[in-house]
Amino acid sequence: MVKRQFIAGATCPGCGAMDRIQRCSDDDSTWMECVACGLVRDLDQPPAAADATDANEQTVTLKPRR
Ligand SMILES: [Zn+2]
Repeated sequence: MVKRQFIAGATCPGCGAMDRIQRCSDDDSTWMECVACGLVRDLDQPPAAADATDANEQTVTLKPRR
């Protein structure tokens, strides 16, 4: 069972649409989807891996820019 919830104020990193991002989760994973352009992004990678060589790669920016 997938739960979906719009994230208020979130901007899509793909198309820039606001309030079109859904946070989706099921039993063992979490991801976000843009209903405007179809972008899907995984959210359940651990943010701080032991040997984080991809430290520069931010997960997702979901905060509104104001
Ligand atoms: Zn989009």
